[in-house]
Amino acid sequence: MHESAVCRERASAYSGVQLGFIYEKTVMKKDTRIFRTGGIIGNEQIIEAARILREGGTVAFPTETVYGLGADALNEKAVSRIFEAKGRPADNPLIVHVDSKERCMDLVRNVPEKALLLMDEFWPGPLTLIMERKPIVPDVTTGGLDTVAVRMPGNEIALELIRQSGKPIAAPSANLSGRPSPTTAGHVLSDLSGRIDAVVDGGEVSIGLESTVVDMTGDIPAILRPGKITKEELELCIGDVRIAYDDKVHPESETVRSPGMKYTHYSPDSIVILVEGQHESVISRIKEMIVDFNHRGANIGLLLTEESKKVFPCEISHSLGEKEKPEQAAKNLFFGLRYLDEKKADIIIVDGSFDPDGIGQAVFNRLRKAADMIIKV
Ligand code: AMP
Ligand code: MG
Repeated sequence: MHESAVCRERASAYSGVQLGFIYEKTVMKKDTRIFRTGGIIGNEQIIEAARILREGGTVAFPTETVYGLGADALNEKAVSRIFEAKGRPADNPLIVHVDSKERCMDLVRNVPEKALLLMDEFWPGPLTLIMERKPIVPDVTTGGLDTVAVRMPGNEIALELIRQSGKPIAAPSANLSGRPSPTTAGHVLSDLSGRIDAVVDGGEVSIGLESTVVDMTGDIPAILRPGKITKEELELCIGDVRIAYDDKVHPESETVRSPGMKYTHYSPDSIVILVEGQHESVISRIKEMIVDFNHRGANIGLLLTEESKKVFPCEISHSLGEKEKPEQAAKNLFFGLRYLDEKKADIIIVDGSFDPDGIGQAVFNRLRKAADMIIKV
């Protein structure tokens, strides 16, 4: 399209959605139960959901980041049900969710002092720490690695569910592999209804993007995935931290440190074009693109900042929030991609003029991975 455009063929990357399709033929259809939570403590719906987890079933539940699909992390059969339901590649390890620092210690060994400091500062919260695993954690949970990723979520429903189950709970995002992560129970059901035992509906999540993942096993802790907790915040607590992620997908690589980097991510069915730059330049490029794509008869959906929304009142669009408030973009991103997919947009054009600082970095990371084309203006 443009020489400045970095075009990536979606087909060349590993498509989790296709895998999901293959599994369609083999996963036994289940009646997915829906639990709605009123109160939290002693809530019978949560107690029932916890019983399903204890008995080896799969339950999706809200966390503060996105909805997770949980199973007993120490039960190989239960964990394999997560991979089957999501169509997730077996070498992509899961994050294990615990309800306390003490329960984390059951799973890990040789824990560095810095990891303890981070737990004290950021748990419960959107921070996942990778540490050496104890033999009790099965290969299926860690994708065969001798490390394990652990997090204590900052959502009362999630914590109560884990507490009631009495188990560490492995829980990747509760979407079909490759699709945008779910931020509502409705999103979970649209991907996984009939493939999982239950979902606990706790309303919309508060952050909207997955946790920051930090590898604590090297001399200098390394960020493998950006999230709400930034490099600067981590460094205030423990000193030097390295960035060990980039915003590309690495389909051919065998050696990436976080296996998740190899796979297509966060993609709706529509073609996604991200336009990055200053507000005015982005708007004028999007105007040109609308004329061009309308001419070709394509159904266009726009993901826009509030400021740009005023310029395109007639298009099918969803708001990313105010451009100076990237936390709003975080909350709206996956919701918006799914919304425009449902509106049958052939092409989703994303206004990338919002603030790239703080959690904005993580939003750009997810967007660049989801995009079929990135245009810098
Ligand atoms: P998800 O659970 O879908 O949010 O993805 C979890 C992310 O953490 C993926 O990118 C995984 O590759 C990464 N991850 C989980 N466990 C490990 C580990 N032991 N070493 C490196 N990366 C990991
Ligand atoms: Mg995921």
